Amino acid sequence: MRITRAAGAFAGIAIAALALAGCNSGSPTSPGAGGDDDDNGLWQVADDFALDGSPTFAEMDDRDGVIVGVKNDQPGLGYEDAASGERTGFDVDIARWIAASLGFEEDDITFETIPSANREQAIVNGDIDYYVGTYSITDERKKQIDFAGPYFITGQGLLVAADNEDIAGPDDLAGKVVCSVTGSTPLQRIRDEYSPGDTREYDTYSQCIDQLLQGQVDAITTDEAILAGYVAQRPDDLKIAGEPFSEERYGVGLPKGDTALLDHVNGLFTDGGDVWDALFEEHLAPAGIDGEQPAVD
Ligand code: GLU
Repeated sequence: MRITRAAGAFAGIAIAALALAGCNSGSPTSPGAGGDDDDNGLWQVADDFALDGSPTFAEMDDRDGVIVGVKNDQPGLGYEDAASGERTGFDVDIARWIAASLGFEEDDITFETIPSANREQAIVNGDIDYYVGTYSITDERKKQIDFAGPYFITGQGLLVAADNEDIAGPDDLAGKVVCSVTGSTPLQRIRDEYSPGDTREYDTYSQCIDQLLQGQVDAITTDEAILAGYVAQRPDDLKIAGEPFSEERYGVGLPKGDTALLDHVNGLFTDGGDVWDALFEEHLAPAGIDGEQPAVD
């Protein structure tokens, strides 16, 4: 079901209220504490929650907290304000929603910024409990980890300077320098299936943005949902060129074999009511991104 503008505005208020509650609260509260104060208007923190058969949940429960891997430089998806430290975005709120469903409040969540190339290892090592950050579900990655979802579908695109008139799609990259991120699916695809003049790879997309703004590269390639967030920040300098040329299905990265946690997160996506729509309207629709909630696998 699509939600109205008014409901989107409500989500904004609800999230602002959540941030405020986070600032005002004192010491961290134990998981499962529950109560009206935990209600942010979109979801409630689960009361007295238990997840039998989940080794990952058992660790969260022991430490009275959840450790989530995210991005910090992708506006609208996973973003950290350098001055305030506040984390915002669709992916970050999906991570918060999952934490709440497991009985954890905002103060119980530790966010770890982890770049694309290090995601599988962070999960395999047990450094994080789960990862929510523009993480495409692939068979290669599934050899090491599991994915809940998909919770969002986008496609690979190209970002160029606003005054660029040479590049209108991935077939226009002969002689051009294209920037992307180490360990990402778009970097692999542009090398395997297209013929750019050259590629440059960095740890983060914001480093590619700097390179593009300085004229060091001709284009950036990654998911359109990510690129649209950068265009929304700098509409006079940047534009998306052409149409998406892949399907990127975002999943929540989970430790391999924890089927109890996998089923729980998929159940949340399936039975989550209007939460997904509210988060989409709040974080992605303003950048002009189109989308609807996909069915989980
Ligand atoms: N969704 C793609 C991937 O998982 C690109 C975005 C990213 O690097 O996080 O590789």
